[in-house]
Amino acid sequence: MNYCKIFLKPKKEESLLRFHPWVFSGAIQSIEGNPEEGDLVKVYGTNQRFLAIGHYQIGSIAVRILSFKPITIDADFWVERIRVAYAIRRELGLAGVENNNTFRLIHGEGDNLPGLVIDMYAHTAVMQAHSVGMHYARHEIAEALKTVLGDTLQNIYYKSEATLPYKANLGSEDGYLYGGEVEDIATENGLKFCVDWQKGQKTGFFVDQRENRSLLERYAKGHSVLNMFCYTGGFSFYAMRGGAEVVHSVDSSAKAISLTNKNVELNFPGDLRHKAFAEDAFKYLEKMGSNYDLIILDPPAFAKHKNVLRNALQGYRKLNAIAFEKIKPGGILFTFSCSQVVSKENFRLAVFSAAAQSGRSVRILHQLTQPADHPVNIYHPEGEYLKGLVLYVE
Ligand code: SAH
Repeated sequence: MNYCKIFLKPKKEESLLRFHPWVFSGAIQSIEGNPEEGDLVKVYGTNQRFLAIGHYQIGSIAVRILSFKPITIDADFWVERIRVAYAIRRELGLAGVENNNTFRLIHGEGDNLPGLVIDMYAHTAVMQAHSVGMHYARHEIAEALKTVLGDTLQNIYYKSEATLPYKANLGSEDGYLYGGEVEDIATENGLKFCVDWQKGQKTGFFVDQRENRSLLERYAKGHSVLNMFCYTGGFSFYAMRGGAEVVHSVDSSAKAISLTNKNVELNFPGDLRHKAFAEDAFKYLEKMGSNYDLIILDPPAFAKHKNVLRNALQGYRKLNAIAFEKIKPGGILFTFSCSQVVSKENFRLAVFSAAAQSGRSVRILHQLTQPADHPVNIYHPEGEYLKGLVLYVE
């Protein structure tokens, strides 16, 4: 195969020599050949030194690196990468066990496959491409998935309409690459939930909160719980299993509320401890009383880009301030940010300001992050995106 060659400006090779998996467009000195978006390209430093091979894309991140060795990206490559990722999930006790069949199998850079996300729900893999290169490789990836997962895999749903660069004009349509039998009930830590990968947000479920939900379960006994931004109700049914007295779930999306009700019914049929409300978070928080002593705030990413960071931090401050003001004395607040551009320090500062505004005594009990099936590539610290604090509010 003939690859186009990307030559970097002097001194711009440093980050690749430290295995950072992105080449920014500003680092490129010249291009030999005429690469199309999504093509495999080879990257060179000074003195024609080979640095890496990756997917070319038009935009600020020009190349997403697949390997720092001069290898061929073929069927064996995909099988090997997926095999390692699957072995890790087995090691973690998330795959091949009885009480859990929901996990992230491929977490982009964290699994050395930038631009690719694959979540597993029972026998279904939901595949999401964030780069044109991964889009073109989707059928090869599907074959590799079948090879590695064998009989456990019955469906592969490709869901990239919303994640591929819009300008690339790929006309990608969501749909099955394999199978198509909708078996939409999956298990997480022994709890069941319906997952709608076709119409749901992201790949259908927020797999990244699994361990934080488990932690919440340990705190839930006897508490009156508010699960704000509940989506499919994950935190709610863990709270119920943990022995909460009351659980209220709130989300502005009526669809999310109906999914939450369905999931609670699946696990705790006819249980009157739970109620769900389709309402805006700020409206609900403003008008609610001081009845809750365990509150979860897991909002959508307030900042998707660096230039709106300031507003996002204000948003986190405002949201948390109402919770601090209203939570019962001795209450516990689980508060999160999933914005990649909001650093741990900035998030903590926003929550700190909110606490100070309320004047209450606040202790940090836990500092939370994403679980091990969303690994962070040590050379790509940007991959750490989920931040959470568990706070005791006196
Ligand atoms: N905690 C969830 C994931 C939350 S995702 C889980 O464990 O699965 C964020 C949710 O916030 C989405 O379901 C979205 O519909 C909801 N949302 C967005 N804006 C909102 C608002 N202003 N008020 C209430 N909910 C909102």
